Formats: sequence, C-alpha cells, structure tokens
Amino acid sequence: MTDPDIRTAGADETRAVGRVVAELCEPGDVVVVSGDLGAGKTTFVQGLAAGLGVDEPVVSPTFTLAREYHGALRLVHVDVYRLDRVQELLHLGLDDLAAEAVLVVEWGDVVADHLPADHLAVRLAAPSAGDPDQRAVALHATGPAWADRVGRVAAALTRR
Ligand code: ADP
Ligand code: MG
Repeated sequence: MTDPDIRTAGADETRAVGRVVAELCEPGDVVVVSGDLGAGKTTFVQGLAAGLGVDEPVVSPTFTLAREYHGALRLVHVDVYRLDRVQELLHLGLDDLAAEAVLVVEWGDVVADHLPADHLAVRLAAPSAGDPDQRAVALHATGPAWADRVGRVAAALTRR
C-alpha cells in the first residue's frame, strides 16, 4: 500500500492529524516528526497530546531536551534540533525514559540512527509558494509496528 499523502490547510488541521495518530498509539510507540523550522512539528505534537488526553499546554522542548506529559498514556516529547543534542539524548537514556510511553521526537532525521528503527515517520513540509497555511503531511511506517496502522490515519481523516 502506498503511504497516505495528507494535506492540511491550517494549524488546526495538522493538530487533527496528530489527534488521529494518538488514537492509534500504544505504549512503547515511537513517532519521529521531521520537517524544517516552522513546518508544524510542534503543532502536530500538540494534537497528538490532546488526543492522548493531555490537558497541559504542549510547548517546544527547546531548552529542556525532553518534556513529559500524562494523558491516557505517558507522552515523552523530545526536540533534537542540533546534532550535539544527540549525545545529550543518549546520556539521558532514551530507552528508560520512553519505556511504556509514547516517544515523540521532533527533527528526528538527525538522530535516526539512534532511534528505534521501527517507528511512525511523520514528515511535514510547507509549500515554497502559494498558501502559507498549507502543509503536506507524509506518514510512513518504517517497520511492522505501524505497518497496519498507518493507513488507518488517512481513512479516519477522510471519514470526518
Ligand atoms: P516546528 O515545530 O516545525 O518548528 P511549529 O509547529 O512550532 O513548527 O510552528 C508552525 C507554525 O506554522 C505555527 O505558527 C502554526 O500556527 C503555523 N501553521 C500555519 N499553517 C499550518 C499548518 N497547516 N500546519 C501546521 N502549522 C501551521
Ligand atoms: Mg518545534
């Protein structure tokens, strides 16, 4: 099956994609969200957190490497926007940190080698021209964990 290609027309629609992903999340899942600065990675994570029932505001973990939230599942949100953060992340003990939680990593393509290989990859892209509120949201299962679930995201969104 080809990967679903989702387009959103504003931040709320990107949050809605995150909310649908949250409904499919299980403890131990890893979601890697990549894209340029301002592409909407944190916005997507806000929707995912809302979908997990987190009622605190989700902000970018720019100064703290990882932020933890508690909803239906524990959510660990990491932002690796510079390569030197990779080392910090590894020192933090990623496996312990994210055990039985949903681990969401922003800008994860920088650290892909150190992340669990089997994850949901979410790539956000803004258009180079045209409507500045448009985003392309590409979802891809890198292994069996999300293979059967990734198609359900697009299906759930078209049903709305
Ligand atoms: P990142 O974490 O990738 O740097 P943010 O989520 O912090 O990006 O910021 C994305 C910005 O773009 C926000 O100000 C958001 O309101 C805006 N925006 C406009 N349209 C969209 C869209 N379709 N999806 C996500 N964000 C959007
Ligand atoms: Mg961000």
